[in-house]
Amino acid sequence: MAALTRDFEAIVEANALVAVDDEHDPEGSSTAFERAHVASLLAQAREHLAELDLAVERLASGAYGRCEVCGEPIPAARLEVRPAATTCVGCAGRTP
Ligand SMILES: [Zn+2]
Repeated sequence: MAALTRDFEAIVEANALVAVDDEHDPEGSSTAFERAHVASLLAQAREHLAELDLAVERLASGAYGRCEVCGEPIPAARLEVRPAATTCVGCAGRTP
């Protein structure tokens, strides 16, 4: 849960930074490439946020921390690195 909260806060911070960047664009220092990069990061962050939402739902239903494929518990070390993981390492390697 702490890891989920940490990720969530990082995403909220990133969103805030992007908003500030947009307001200060008139200087023209932001190239199209930088904008595309930021947009892609933001898209990734939103996708991750959706994953975290699902993880929170699984926490509520008691399914969190269990592999969706084999049903075995996902090791805590993996959840620490990938709080939104839905499969164990073995199953993640077998599914795209
Ligand atoms: Zn598994």
